[in-house]
Amino acid sequence: MKDETCIFCKIAGGEIPSATLYEDETFRVILDLGPASRGHALILPKDHYADLCALDEQVASKALGLAARIGAAMKKALKCDGFNLVQNNGTAAGQTVFHFHIHVIPRYEGGPQIVSWEPGTASSEELARLAEEIGAAL
Ligand code: AMP
Ligand code: ZN
Repeated sequence: MKDETCIFCKIAGGEIPSATLYEDETFRVILDLGPASRGHALILPKDHYADLCALDEQVASKALGLAARIGAAMKKALKCDGFNLVQNNGTAAGQTVFHFHIHVIPRYEGGPQIVSWEPGTASSEELARLAEEIGAAL
């Protein structure tokens, strides 16, 4: 299913041109217009799913394998030293386009820095309580 108001539906369907590096019946993989590093790509399903929680399970099961192939191709073609997968769900998490996508971001020794956080602290009691709460909601 497509959403006629969604820009990523239009890009994935080929209605809006994009720098496409891979396409099959389920996905289009494009280069991000505002790259975090050289070669930053986005894996877009051709059908519309707002986020990971809405994603079809069969599409989800193919997406990670495709991400591995894209990352391996980046290492070969771009000589990057590694790559990050980033997948934002919800405004608070930085999602700006509400059509599920996976960022595949090449990483190069020496930068740029992309994903980092300051490790916090948590007591074992707090960890146990949180694990219980989340686990009970599954
Ligand atoms: P997110 O913040 O996870 O929703 O990511 C949206 C990403 O889409 C951002 O990295 C944008 O730079 C990228 N983006 C937005 N519009 C386009 C477009 N027309 N073509 C390519 N990338 C886009
Ligand atoms: Zn869409």
